[in-house]
Amino acid sequence: MYKSAYLNRIYDWIQSMNGCEKEFLNAIEEFLDSMEYLVEKDPNIEKNQILERLVIPERVFQFRVSWVDDNGKIQVNNAYRIQFNSAIGPYKGGMRFDKSVNLSILKFLAFEQIFKNSLTGLPMGGGKGGSDFDPRDKSDNEIMKFCQAYMAELYHFIGPDMDVPAGDLGFGAREVGYMFGYYKKLTKEHKGVFTGKGLAFGGSLVRTEATGYGLCYFVMEMLKKYKNDSLKGKKVIVSGKGNVAMYAALKARELGATVVAMSDRSGYIACDDGLDLDLIKEIANAKRRSILEYSDKYPSVIKGSNVHDIWGVKCDIAMPCATQNEINIDDAKKLVKNGCFMVAEGANMPTELEAVRYFMENGVIFSPGKASNAGGVSVSGLEMSQNAEHLSWSFKQVDEMLKEIMKNIFDVCYNTAKEFGDETNLSLGANIAGFKKVYAAMLAEGVI
Ligand code: NDP
Repeated sequence: MYKSAYLNRIYDWIQSMNGCEKEFLNAIEEFLDSMEYLVEKDPNIEKNQILERLVIPERVFQFRVSWVDDNGKIQVNNAYRIQFNSAIGPYKGGMRFDKSVNLSILKFLAFEQIFKNSLTGLPMGGGKGGSDFDPRDKSDNEIMKFCQAYMAELYHFIGPDMDVPAGDLGFGAREVGYMFGYYKKLTKEHKGVFTGKGLAFGGSLVRTEATGYGLCYFVMEMLKKYKNDSLKGKKVIVSGKGNVAMYAALKARELGATVVAMSDRSGYIACDDGLDLDLIKEIANAKRRSILEYSDKYPSVIKGSNVHDIWGVKCDIAMPCATQNEINIDDAKKLVKNGCFMVAEGANMPTELEAVRYFMENGVIFSPGKASNAGGVSVSGLEMSQNAEHLSWSFKQVDEMLKEIMKNIFDVCYNTAKEFGDETNLSLGANIAGFKKVYAAMLAEGVI
């Protein structure tokens, strides 16, 4: 599969241990693709068994969470925390609450997080956690009970200088609040152990908006560099209607783009003249409302229950912001056929590897989530700095810092891709640039 015997050996080894972990194997395969260029030039990587040490998590916790629902019935869920790599800083990465959560998905997310965090330039290692608990059909009381039961186990393994979780899919400010509150009760310490906290207890302005806004700032840099253009007048698809999608759509509109399609698990809606984002936000903020209800007010909107059909909507730029593996090869072909020239990932690995390769072969400029969705974790890093210094910065200050960080991430990915011979390959740039810092730290820290 790879030209390098070393890379083939690593992949076969990981496959023999984790053969059924599809998402994790995909992430490893995508990363090793980019290492081809480096391992040939630098024999020290193999000599020091850097990749062997990188592809196995430093620590994985799996535990049972038992709790009592509103009907007095005992419920049991699986829960995890993956501490993947701490070479450049304390583990940092979100918590995901979703029925689909398993070890493979969390390991893939934690692995990606290592390089994403490295690209931000902030001292953060890679981690991720979560549970197969589905908050969507639970009451507030049940969510609180679950978060407390989860924290009763998790608090042993986290801390402001050790592992700092944050939000992700199904895990927002409410869940952070319940978890943080219980951590405080158990440890008797008011410490910055979570990011994405409420503003009243140590949170940072712009954290809620950061991933979506950061994605648009990254796209602005892509357009400037590759097309000498801007978002003004561009037709954009943003999949999802969650935290990342909503703020990406709102920022894209602010920057002059027209958001022509959005989605959720129930389906997608599309309108070539642009969607009413305020109505979508209202639907998204209400519990258990489907995006398809948009047609109650706008009966002529195009809609459908197959989420993949969103990629058949004509656009200039696609921003997949819902979940992993949203764009398969057929979706990629539809986008290319309809003239889409740029795909920027807001979610983590929403594009299947085959589809990424198809985009590159067909001249579509593609950015991987580990670079273009790094805005969230960047502002989390800024939240940690504010907590450590007992400060809180203004919205404008944090937004300016976010813009600067996203520009730096784009520049480092672009410059690295160019140095390695393919300036349009931002995945290559992101993987190599993210890896280099982690590699240097691992070498310096010795065999541990
Ligand atoms: P949310 O839970 O806020 O929103 C997820 C959205 O995606 C929901 O609207 C959900 O639909 C929709 N969705 C889920 N599965 C599908 C599907 N198969 N097809 C269409 N829509 C779907 O999560 P976030 O916005 O926080 O996270 C989204 C992605 O971004 C994830 O991959 C996450 O890992 C990544 N990410 C998030 C960051 C953050 O700061 N939040 C940071 C970096 C990456 P419904 O409304 O019906 O539930």
